Amino acid sequence: MSIIVAGGGIAGLTFALTCHEIGLDVQVFEAEQELQPLGVGINLQPNAVKELYQLGLEADLRDIGIEAEEWALFFYGAHPIWVEPSGTLAGYHWPQFSVHRGHFHMRLLERVVERLGPQAVV
Ligand SMILES: Cc1cc2nc3c(=O)[nH]c(=O)nc-3n(C[C@H](O)[C@H](O)[C@H](O)COP(=O)(O)OP(=O)(O)OC[C@H]3O[C@@H](n4cnc5c(N)ncnc54)[C@H](O)[C@@H]3O)c2cc1C
Repeated sequence: MSIIVAGGGIAGLTFALTCHEIGLDVQVFEAEQELQPLGVGINLQPNAVKELYQLGLEADLRDIGIEAEEWALFFYGAHPIWVEPSGTLAGYHWPQFSVHRGHFHMRLLERVVERLGPQAVV
């Protein structure tokens, strides 16, 4: 079976890696001429990190991201109003990572091209 993915965002590229991992032929079609490292910081929650670890991307996450220890809400830089632990410190089996969306996107693209070949993203 051949899979066609419409869109090479972080979801499409991750899905392509998953299809490849389970032995399916997959090709990603992206509307933009060139993918660029756009965005701001995003938090990859433990349920997402679990999937990314299963794709062998732990070293990539550690390279581009920061393992988040806690989530905190401050009032104008003063004392924290609320603080709670994140990831493994909150009891999950997987950590939470804070990453720059653009860096994460580009790393996924690198891995897709490396594993599936340059023809995988059109
Ligand atoms: C400020 C901000 C903070 C965020 N924080 C978090 C966070 O902490 N945690 C979190 O999980 N998420 C967060 N998000 C959301 C997260 O960034 C997005 O949900 C995610 O990037 C969406 O990825 P995607 O691949 O689904 O879609 P997109 O990144 O939108 O990718 C879709 C791709 O499909 C292409 N496309 C569209 N239509 C077609 C078509 N017909 N044919 C071919 N290609 C097509 C587009 O060009 C695009 O490249 C945040 C978002 C913002 C803006």
